[in-house]
This record gives sequence, structure tokens and C-alpha cells, in this order.
Amino acid sequence: MRFYWLLLSVLSTLLIALPAQAGRLLYWRFESNDNRLIFTTDSRVQPRAQLIPNPTRIVLDLPGVTLGRPSVDQIIGGTIKSVRVGQFNAQTTRLVIELAPGYTVDPQKVVVKGISPTQWTVDLPTPQRIARPSTSPSLPPPKPSPSPAPLRPLPTPSAQRSNDFQVTRSGLFINLERNGNNNQIRVNRSEDQKTIEFTLPGASLPQSLINQTLPVNEYGVGEIRFEQPQTSPPEARLIMQVSEESPNWQGYYSRLGGLVLLPKGGISKVRDLTPPEPSANNNPSNSVSQNQLPTISLIQLINNNTQLLIQSDKPIQGSGNLDRRTGVYTIRIPNAQLAEPITGPQLGRNSPIYELKVRQINPESVEILVKPSLGIRFGRLSQPNQQVLALDVRSLRTSTVTPNPNPRPINVPPPSNTSLPPITSNPPSTSSVSPRGRVLVIIDPGHGGKDPGAVGLGGLQEKNVILPISLDVSRLLQQRGVQVKLTRNADYFVSLRGRTDLANRSGADIFVSIHANAVGGGRSHVNGMEVFYYGHRDLSEAIHRSIIRSINVGDRGVKRGRFYVLRKSRMPATLVEVGFVTGTEDNRRLSDPAYRRQMAQAIAQGILDYIQQKRL
Ligand code: ZN
Repeated sequence: MRFYWLLLSVLSTLLIALPAQAGRLLYWRFESNDNRLIFTTDSRVQPRAQLIPNPTRIVLDLPGVTLGRPSVDQIIGGTIKSVRVGQFNAQTTRLVIELAPGYTVDPQKVVVKGISPTQWTVDLPTPQRIARPSTSPSLPPPKPSPSPAPLRPLPTPSAQRSNDFQVTRSGLFINLERNGNNNQIRVNRSEDQKTIEFTLPGASLPQSLINQTLPVNEYGVGEIRFEQPQTSPPEARLIMQVSEESPNWQGYYSRLGGLVLLPKGGISKVRDLTPPEPSANNNPSNSVSQNQLPTISLIQLINNNTQLLIQSDKPIQGSGNLDRRTGVYTIRIPNAQLAEPITGPQLGRNSPIYELKVRQINPESVEILVKPSLGIRFGRLSQPNQQVLALDVRSLRTSTVTPNPNPRPINVPPPSNTSLPPITSNPPSTSSVSPRGRVLVIIDPGHGGKDPGAVGLGGLQEKNVILPISLDVSRLLQQRGVQVKLTRNADYFVSLRGRTDLANRSGADIFVSIHANAVGGGRSHVNGMEVFYYGHRDLSEAIHRSIIRSINVGDRGVKRGRFYVLRKSRMPATLVEVGFVTGTEDNRRLSDPAYRRQMAQAIAQGILDYIQQKRL
């Protein structure tokens, strides 16, 4: 049974390292009575819409939006067959409304409307029977009827508006031009069977297709990419994403112009193949929940921080309880599990939520504790749709939650040059210290999870010594207005690459890795701390000085070390070895929480000294 607490504030910062500033699809639903699709994202989105015939589908692409969970295919019934939601490519989430066979809608009457930059509706007119089903499957289609047709009022990329690429009744048609009489077409299927590449010497693609990737989602073909490398004579390249079970495809130049792509054995061989899923992100949460309990993967503040949304991949139900004395709101969700990792809201200085904890209270229930910031009260727990719980967040002083719609800049003078008071065990309250919010420090507790690090006397594990120290360093720095991100905040494994990627992508100013040492051979007399640098020495020296000044510990000095995290991080970086878990003296002291707090204070002070020294 898993039983753990997660500090979402920190986890969410870890996730920033994955898709840079991608928005998320928070929820969607289809209201069959009104033929209306509603969806909400957590950041501004400009959808692209198109109508694709045969069968009729309304395809909405949300660029810059990730789904972060498995695709969903919801059967609607009636004239609307289904609504599918999936990750089209790394940056785009796709919603597809598919009509029942034989039905279509007038694209001019499909209304896509943004209620706000993050909330959209798609209204369909009543679907009509297709009047005159085409009877001639002959190839190639002459200049085909204007489809896919763009829906108004959204702008669509030119390729989707053109007739240069068509899904026909027997295959695919591309309106390319042949220079000269080269009939050669090279076809190459990838080893994993998932892509088929056509190389067309002497062929030129129309401008509207070059470097475009267009959806097919039919005949076992996911999407097709068009490339025109700068070669002379010209050479066009088409890359098709196909289902592994798909037969090979072949290309033919049509006598009437253009290129036709056909599956070997005819269209019947591919008609029922499922198009390949666009390669989803490798979010581990995707693997957790197949055919299992509803999985909660996202907790997010929306609508100007007035609602906290809890998002699951399947229907959930929850109950809420407000502790009037503490203001803490507890949400219990039976028959649900937590995704790993789970994405939480960014809890910063201005967040209405002070702390958010989630845990699996037994294998089948999830508990979420939300602690409000000062002046915040939680209201009602509601259910905007089956997969989402929403908690109202109210401010007693409205100004702290609802930002002025026309923000005006406030002049902030630079911090004064007086030196910062040293950290004491009772640090001054946050308000009394100059906030230096712009400095970002990465604190990197080494090892974790399956990797215990050094194991010393009495089985003392490095990972368990350095985590509390790191958490303390982080807390102390934050109390001084320094922004901090931890590479891990609990006992789980993070790769070295993951650690430096976080630092590099978040543009951190300082990287501090915290470790404990070990020697073999029973040399328990070896004790002491040491600090390593690779490029920049000053940060290591500042921390070293601070430790020596405040703690009576063996001094092994400042050294150059070729550690991965020091070599790969792009900012001043240091690796602090706080002592030897194998040393008699260090082992005893590192087992003592009071000593660890002292060590954390010394490291934090060293970091502050460095920030001060460099005027960061
Ligand atoms: Zn280590």
C-alpha cells in the first residue's frame, strides 16, 4: 500500500521542467441535447478547427495544450457518433467530433466561440443526411470538392484550407508537381513498422503543404508529414504514420496530375484499422490507470485563482469538510488513486493556497488537504462535470485574489546595500526581510528512492540524512524571500540529468547539491565535510566559510570535482558533502535532527552570503 504525502508546491515546479509552459486541457464535455462541445484550458488557447468528410468529423486542434493523460473516446449516440480527445503531437491536443455514418453538417453553420481565452464552445447545427452519396471510387479524384472545409470564424493554416491534400474513398491524394519525366518513387517502411516514407525524386510539393503535418486519422494512418528538402533537382518527401498492422502503401502518379497513395491489397485491408495514437508523452501517470481506478493527475487553480479544480481521468465523487477553526479544507475521494507524478498548482507568494497535500489514505481513497493563505476562505465543493471537482476559493480582501484587470506597474526600488542579518533559529517573519524574489536557487538533495546513496554505520542512509537538511535549507531561503526549487522533496528517484535539466530550463541562478560521504574499509576515523566546485569556486567557498564559521566539524576543504551535476548545470554550482555516514563522529551527529538543522542553517547562510556578495 502506498502512503505518502506530497507537497504539491514543489512537485509542480519539477514538472515545469517537462513541457515548457504548455497549457492543459482542464475539462470538456459534450451536451448532446444542444449538440454543443464545451472545453476549458488552463491557459490562453487559439483553437484551429476544420471539417473533414467521409465520415464527417469536426477536428479541433489546441496548439500549445497538452492532455497529460490517456486518450478518451466517448460514444455519444444518435447523429453524433463519438467525441475523441487525444494528444495529437507533443504540443497539440486534438478534439474530434465524429458524426454518424451518412451524416454531415454545413461547416458555415458550425460556430466555434471563445467565451474567454480559456473557455470555448463548439455549436453544431443539426446534422443532415448526406444527399448524394458518391458512387464512383475511381482514381484519382479530379479537383475534389472544397474539403476539408474550414470552419469559421477561426483562422486555419493555409494547407488545411487548400485542396492540395485529400483523403479519398480509396486512399490519399496529394496535388504535387512532377518536373520532368521521373516516375521513380522510393518507399521505405521503418523497422518498427510505424512509419512509411515516400521519396519522390523530381517532385515539388505545393507551397501550402511544405513542412506541414496533417491529420488523416483514417485507413490506419495517423498523420502525414510533407517535406521538401532543398535539393536540385527537387525531391519531395512524405512521411506517413501508420498502424503497425497496416499493409504497405504504394505511390502512383496520376495521369491527371498529382500523386495517389494506396494501401497494398486495396482500401478494405485498412478500413477498420485504428490509426496510431499520436505518440503520447511519457508521463508515467499514463501507465498507472489503464482499466483501473479513476486517477487524479491534476490539481489546478483557475479563473483568477477563484476555483481549485481536481481533475480525474474517470468519473469521481468527493466530499468536503471545512475545519472552521483552522480554515483547512479536506476533500475525500473514495474509489480513486493518485497519478505519479501529480501536477499541482504553483503555490507562490500570491497564491490563495498556502499548502496543499494529497495522499492515498488506503489503496482506494484519496485525501486532499488544502490550507488557505491568510485572508482566504474556501466555499462550496461542486462538480462541474463527472471527472472534475471544484472548490470555490474566496478572498476576504478581494484585492489579493482578483488581480486588477488593468494592472499598472509599481515602482520597486532596488534592495538596499546593507548586509542581511544572519539567520537565527527564529528567523524574522517574511515581511520584515527584503524580498529578493528574483533569485532562484535549486536545492538538489542527492539520490532518493531506489538509490540510497552512501550507507554507513548502523545502516544510516545518505538519502535520509540529506533530505531533511535540504528541505530545511529550502525553507530558510524561502523565508528570506529567495525563490527555491527542489529537485526532489521526498524519497523518490530522480536522474542526474533530470536534476540539471530542471536547473537549466528554469534559468536558476544557483545550484546546490547536498550529499553525505562514505569511505570503505571500515575507516570510521574518516570524518569531516567538504565542498566541491567545477567551474565557479566562489559559491563553494561562501558555503564552506559559513559551515566552518558556525559548526565544529572536520574541515576537508574546497575541492574541484568532476561531478555530473556540477559539469552539466549552466549556473554557479556546488556540491556539499555534509559529512561521512561511515565516520563514527559524523554518523552520530548526522543522525541527530538538531545537528542537521544546524548544518542546514549554515548552508543557507552561505548561499545568502553568496547572493549578497554577487548582488544577485
Ligand atoms: Zn551522494
